[in-house]
This record gives sequence, C-alpha cells and structure tokens, in this order.
Amino acid sequence: MRRKKLIWHLFPFFLLVTLVTLAAVTWYSARSWRTFFLEQTARDLETRARLVESRIGGSAGLENGPGVDKLCKDLGKITATRLTVILTSGQVLGDTEEDPARMDNHGDRPEFREAMTGRVGVSTRFSFTLGHNQMYVAVPVKDQDKITGAVRASLPVTSIDQALRVYYFQIIFGGLIIALLVAFLSFIISRRLSGPLENLKRGALRFAQGDLHRKLPIPQTDELASLAEVMNDMAAKLEDRINALVRQGQMQEAVLSSMIEGVLAIDAEQRLVALNRAAARLLGVDPESGLDQPIQEVVRDPALRWFINRTLAAREALEQEVAVNNGKLVLQAHGTSLRDAAGTKIGSLIVLHDVTHLRRLEMMRRDFVANVSHELKTPITSIKGFVETLLAGALHEPENAENFLRIIARQSDRLNEIINDLLSLSRIEQDSERGQIFLTAQRIKGVLAAAVEVCEAKARERGINIRLDCPDDLRARVNAPLLEQAVVNLVDNAVKYSEKDREIRVEAERAGPEVVVRVRDQGSGIAPVHLPRLFERFYRVDSGRSRSSGGTGLGLAIVKHIAQAHGGKVTVESAPGKGSIFSLHLLPD
Ligand code: ADP
Repeated sequence: MRRKKLIWHLFPFFLLVTLVTLAAVTWYSARSWRTFFLEQTARDLETRARLVESRIGGSAGLENGPGVDKLCKDLGKITATRLTVILTSGQVLGDTEEDPARMDNHGDRPEFREAMTGRVGVSTRFSFTLGHNQMYVAVPVKDQDKITGAVRASLPVTSIDQALRVYYFQIIFGGLIIALLVAFLSFIISRRLSGPLENLKRGALRFAQGDLHRKLPIPQTDELASLAEVMNDMAAKLEDRINALVRQGQMQEAVLSSMIEGVLAIDAEQRLVALNRAAARLLGVDPESGLDQPIQEVVRDPALRWFINRTLAAREALEQEVAVNNGKLVLQAHGTSLRDAAGTKIGSLIVLHDVTHLRRLEMMRRDFVANVSHELKTPITSIKGFVETLLAGALHEPENAENFLRIIARQSDRLNEIINDLLSLSRIEQDSERGQIFLTAQRIKGVLAAAVEVCEAKARERGINIRLDCPDDLRARVNAPLLEQAVVNLVDNAVKYSEKDREIRVEAERAGPEVVVRVRDQGSGIAPVHLPRLFERFYRVDSGRSRSSGGTGLGLAIVKHIAQAHGGKVTVESAPGKGSIFSLHLLPD
C-alpha cells in the first residue's frame, strides 16, 4: 500500500464528513424553505383572489363583463398579480394581462376545476401564455350556495427559484470556506499529532544507528507518552545488554590476546572464526584478514593443516607436537571440539604452544652433556692409558715412566682447568639468576691493569707486548673480580691466537650511553661463518690449536655470561689475517 502523510489521512475524511453534513443540511433547509415559501405565496394569492371576488360582488357583478375585465387589469397592476375571472363554462371574463375575448377556454385548468368543486384550487405549472412557471390559486364565486364562476390569482415562481439560487450560492460559498477551514484544522491537528510522532521516529532511527544514550522527549499525548517511555526503557535495556556484551567481548579479547598460546577457533564450515595475536604471529598471518576465510587458505603449513583436519574430524581431544616453518618452529598443538549449549559440535578449537625454545634448551642440554663428556673423556682416556702402561711394566723403565707421568700430570691439569671453567660458568649463571652478582660503580683502570698483569708473563714469553689505554677516572658499574676474569680470558685468547712479537691493546672509553672495554689483537682473526656461534660453550674455530694451547672452549662463554651479569654484552669484530676486536659493553656509573 502506498504510504501517505498523516494530513492526507485526516483531511479527506474531515472534508467528506463536513461536505456530507453541509449537503444534507442545505438540501433539507432548502426544501423546507421552498415549501414554506410556496405555501405562503399560495395563501397570499388566495387572499388576493378573495378580495377580487368580494369586489366583483357575486353573480350580478359577473354579468358586467367589461367591468370585470377592467377590475382585473386595475387591481392586477396595483398588486402586481395576474388576476383572471372565469365563468363556470370555462370562458374567461376578465384578465390582467390579456384580452379575454382572445383567450381560450380555461375549463380544463386544474385550479379552476378544483374551485368548481367549492374548494380553493392551487396549481403550479408552466404557462404557455407567459412562457414561465406560474402559481395559480383559484377561489369559487358563489351566489348563495351556487357556484357561478371563479377568481384566479397567479404569480410567477421564478422569483422563488431566484431567491433559492442565491441561497444555494451562499451555501456553496460557505461550504468552500468551511472546506478551507477544515483543511487548516486538519493541518493543525496532523501537525500536533505528527510532530511528536516525527520526534519518536527520529529517536527510533537514532536507536537503530546505535545511539542508545540520548533519550526520547516525552510527548504530552498519553498514548504517545507511553510509547516514548516504552521505547526509552527498551533503549536503556538494550544499551545495558550491549554494554555487557561489549565488556564480555573485550574481556574475551583481552584474555585471548594476552595469552602466550596461539588460539584458533574454526566453525563447522571450516572457516576461521577467531584468532588471537599469538596465533597470528605463529602462523605468520594478518589477524584481521584471516577471519572468515577457509582455514585451509589461512594455514599453509602441511603438518599443521593435517593436525587441524584430524581435529575437525575427531570426537575426542588431540595433542601433538608439530614442527612448522621447515622445523624452525616447534608447536605443541592441542585440538578440542567446540560445542554449543546443547552439546552439538559446532567447530574446533586449536591451541598452539610455542615449545621451540624449550626444545632448543633440551637440545642444548643434551649437546652440553655430550660435549662435557667428550671434553672429559679425552684426558681421562689418556690418563687411563698411561696408568695402564705404567702398571704393565713401564714403571720400571725410568725414562719412559717419567715421561708418562708428565703426560698424566698435564692431562690432569687439563681436566682441572675444564672443571674449573665449568664450575665458574655455572656459578656465574647461578649467581646471576639469583641476583647475587653485585655491581659497584668504580674506576676500572685498576681492574684492567690487574687483568693485564695476570697475562703479562705468558705474553712476554711469546714476545708480545700488551698496552693498556684507559683514562684514570673512567668509571663503570662492575663486579671487579668478574670483570677481571672476563678481561683475562679475552687477553689470554689474544695472546694464544697471536703470532710472536705482536701487540695487544686493552682500551677502555666512554662511548655514548655505555663504557666499552676493547681487547684488540693482531692475531689470526676469525672467519665470519664462526662469529655467530663463537660465544657458545665448547665452540672452537680450530680445535687442535685450541687444545694444544690449553684452551677449554669455555673462555668466551664465560665472558658472555659475565657481560650479561653486568647488564651489558660482548661483541666481536674480526676477519682472518686482520686480527680481532672483542668489546665488552658495560653500564656507566
Ligand atoms: P678456547 O679455550 O678454545 O680459547 P674460547 O671460548 O676462549 O675457547 O674461544 C673459542 C674459540 O674462539 C677459540 O677456539 C678460537 O678458535 C677462537 N678465538 C677466541 N679468541 C680469539 C682471538 N683473539 N683470535 C682468534 N681466534 C680466537
């Protein structure tokens, strides 16, 4: 159905009611008025006819034909009425307008015939003589009780119709004014009704657009006021409900995004419906654009896809370790069914836990145990071998025995060194974890000088000169014994891996926000391929040279841990044949 404005519902209805009422009243009053007017005219004509009848003076008067005609003409002019006197035969004796001799017989006129019965005859009809509607009233002329003729008085009825026409015109004019008035009133009423309705409509639109906070104004009309109150109430409840949902959603979002584990929810159509930040990071996808996409398009890794497919098909929970990204990432994946309140499966939930670091640590621990065992095994095998040889009789060969015992002593020293290094490494690690490494702000020149002094004898043996270059007042937050140990390890390496007669420089300076201690040598240098792993335990570039020069492979690992315990780091710049620079980055005072 076509929608119309309120005014177009009210106005035609009001107008129709008004016009029908107006027409009915007009029709009724015009009819009554016309009847009254005609009756009044008939009575008036009757009176005039009776006056003429009395002037004629009965049957005797009728015998004077020309006198009667003259009377008709005279009185007719005075009263503006057409008067006619008719004999019982129907012959016209006198008439106001015409010559009676030329008038036809009036015996058939209804009013005349009525008068001939002794009553008053009334007739309204078209007069062919005058050419318009006339009202005729005829009264009998009596001589004693005998009727000898009739006097007829008549008037044109056009004047009545004219009067009625004016009356109709006034009514139509009045009707038009009333219609305008009705239109105006309809407009005012519809405005008064539609104004608050429009307000309600605008308010409802605001509600629909989510602005539930602004309340609707309460109109004065009772029904509309109730409607507005109900809508306000509804909006308030809706706002509460939405706020609760938003809060709940935010809470869920916060929980999900703060989780370290990656969480993926997949619906029954295998579309991704939820994905937290950790999952997006682990899978390398955009958290927004992945949503609502088929899971097979979002997850590219075949191993993980296989696990997800199994979870979607399975009834029970699944758990599996999945290596993704070519084994760079190890994920512990848990898959469970998502069920609605009725317990029907509506999808699956996958939780991914990054265990790469854990697995790497486990591997490192295994490697470390293997490395330690290997490092210890070599001297122990050697010691055991020589002890057995001595026991087998070499003990009695003084020359060999002394040589063998020297080797045993050297291997024991080596064992001792390895164990000492391992112990100091684990002590530094433990103290660092427990926060038991105390740093004090102090001048570091003395600490560096002490470290140089420790290495001086060995360097001198090889003709190597160690130069210390440190400002007297350079201060840093350090643990003096540990810093000394780190610098000793670095200088010791520099001595070990330098040719004879070279120079080693120990430099310290303030560089921006840190204090840097550099140990610079002109030794063999290190190929770039080894640099990333140089600080790992037991990592050696050249195992033979390291061992022969008494290295345990733990020196740089100890330096790294000491640097970390100082809140700093150790870095290396080196190239084969160009020497190396090891830098300890420390916190300033
Ligand atoms: P090591 O006890 O074998 O010296 P480190 O942990 O101190 O063990 O050093 C690891 C490896 O790094 C060494 O085996 C050596 O190959 C290399 N390296 C360390 N310092 C230097 C240096 N100043 N010049 C050349 N190579 C070095």
